[in-house]
Amino acid sequence: MTEINWDKECPHCGVKMNKWWANSNEFGDGLGFCTSVMLVCFNDACPMYVKGWNSLFDHYRRIGSVRYFYSPEDGDSGVLPVAHKDALRGDIIKE
Ligand SMILES: [Zn+2]
Repeated sequence: MTEINWDKECPHCGVKMNKWWANSNEFGDGLGFCTSVMLVCFNDACPMYVKGWNSLFDHYRRIGSVRYFYSPEDGDSGVLPVAHKDALRGDIIKE
């Protein structure tokens, strides 16, 4: 088994991502994660997150945004829906 590198910057803003507990969150719609820890970009100036506020409202009439995530364990990446600025922050793993 190769060692997992948790030192990674967000490809959208270049800010180092935070370790985050994935399995304490449930998004429904079958969007579950088989890994327990992922990396999430919590930069409020991240273009992905800033753009999300407009695109989510335009497409779904929903207030919210998305944050970029990457799972070093299986190479999976995508976005997590957030309803407000502090959403998901409670599960950041402090080191
Ligand atoms: Zn970012």
